Amino acid sequence: MSRSTFYITTPIYYPSDNLHIGHAYTTVAADAVARFKRLMGYDVYFLTGADEHGQKIERAAQAKGKKPKEYVDEIVLGFKDLWARLLVDYSDFIRTTEERHRLVVQQIFERLYEQGDIYKAAYEGWYCTPCETFWTLRQLVEGNCPDCGRPVELLQEESYFFRLSKYAARLLAHIQEHPDFIQPVSRRNEMVNFIKSGLEDLCVSRTTFSWGIPVPFNPRHVVYVWVDALTNYISALGYARVNDALFKKYWPADVHLVGKDIVRFHTIIWPIILMAAGVELPKRVVGHGWLLLDGGKMSKSKGNVVDPHQLIDRYGADAVRYYLLRELPFGADGSYSEGNLISRINSDLANDLGNLLHRTLTVLSKFGGGVVGPPGVPEETDRELIELARDLPGRVALLVDNLELSEALGVVWQLVNRANKYLDETAPWNLGKDPVKRDRFNTVMYNVLESYRFITVLLAPFMPGFPDRVWPQLGIAARPELHSFASLTWGRFPPGVSVERGTPLFPRIETEK
Ligand SMILES: [Zn+2]
Repeated sequence: MSRSTFYITTPIYYPSDNLHIGHAYTTVAADAVARFKRLMGYDVYFLTGADEHGQKIERAAQAKGKKPKEYVDEIVLGFKDLWARLLVDYSDFIRTTEERHRLVVQQIFERLYEQGDIYKAAYEGWYCTPCETFWTLRQLVEGNCPDCGRPVELLQEESYFFRLSKYAARLLAHIQEHPDFIQPVSRRNEMVNFIKSGLEDLCVSRTTFSWGIPVPFNPRHVVYVWVDALTNYISALGYARVNDALFKKYWPADVHLVGKDIVRFHTIIWPIILMAAGVELPKRVVGHGWLLLDGGKMSKSKGNVVDPHQLIDRYGADAVRYYLLRELPFGADGSYSEGNLISRINSDLANDLGNLLHRTLTVLSKFGGGVVGPPGVPEETDRELIELARDLPGRVALLVDNLELSEALGVVWQLVNRANKYLDETAPWNLGKDPVKRDRFNTVMYNVLESYRFITVLLAPFMPGFPDRVWPQLGIAARPELHSFASLTWGRFPPGVSVERGTPLFPRIETEK
């Protein structure tokens, strides 16, 4: 029997500068979902990449005296380095400057032109160079770009246009028939209203610069960057190529994870390109909120960015990943501050999670010689802990399916907190002193160790470096069959293994008073 497939993507990032913590959030979130699905046994394909064309790149390269390709090559190395440092395990990294991508974009463009969905016309509009977007006079805000607020210039050119309007009714029907297509609901409503207000045909070629994919039948024009970029989700799978095995296997995508600012491109332009090309639509487009800094959006053009490398140097990849995934509730914005990051590390990771293991192993070493005996008959307080643990895998899996990652971590922490409280209630440090209570002592120790095994398995997708530090301490490093999602049935922790107390998993961060 073949395994179910799961295809998840991040947006491909624009290498006009280095990445910031907001990009890291999107990629780490997609990675956590991909890892969780793999843990559950899915055949997962996880795609990320770089969107390398456009006037901004051309100009940035010029300013540095470099050829555009030379310029993006360096930045893309930096992307890959950051993903490696954040323990991101993607299946493929697509670059829009690759031939495998260019050929697919040109093929789709040509097909749409031949069938009359793309046509040539004169065009005049107000152009914002940093945003690479044309605006109508009506859309300008006080004469400036409505997105970035910068001055725009009036440009006139002969362009190719894509008949978005022709597909508007079909797209609306699709959104209505597939309530999960756009998430969260607030974004879906926004998009529905946007489409109902009327779609204008989209200008899909440029002659003002040359750093792009040439229109195959008129190479004076290059393909509009969004049409170019969005196509990565299928070009990476070999769509319309001789070897399209990946496309056949993984398309349609299960999730396109994107920031809320680009939901519109992914739920209007992209599905209409696919409809016109006769390709199935992705199952879900999920728009997440922003990580706000001092109340405003982090952006390269504003210069208020946080360098993820510094945070990884200071706190480690697992802690940075945990913070990002915990801090942004599904669909809403979160706010970034290093103070919040430090307090998450100190309270959630050092105090709750790390200390739970540390105190358990300390008691077991002192009173049990580091070996847990088989558990006895459970009491009421044990049953409460065990039931919470038993329900956990299903609850977490459901939340991850819904991309509710912060909520999923919150549910794992219910068990972390319950186990800490259980230790306080049962006081094994007293039980351990009394030979008559040896059975009870073993039961308590066993239940906490087994809970910790559940916690560690479920946290692996969120903090991939964490389990490797826990398993040796629990004495089951050489037992991979106990590290799997499928192993999460209560009572599989093997009595008789020797635990080994290590250094604290997450040392507290001392801050100046
Ligand atoms: Zn702009």
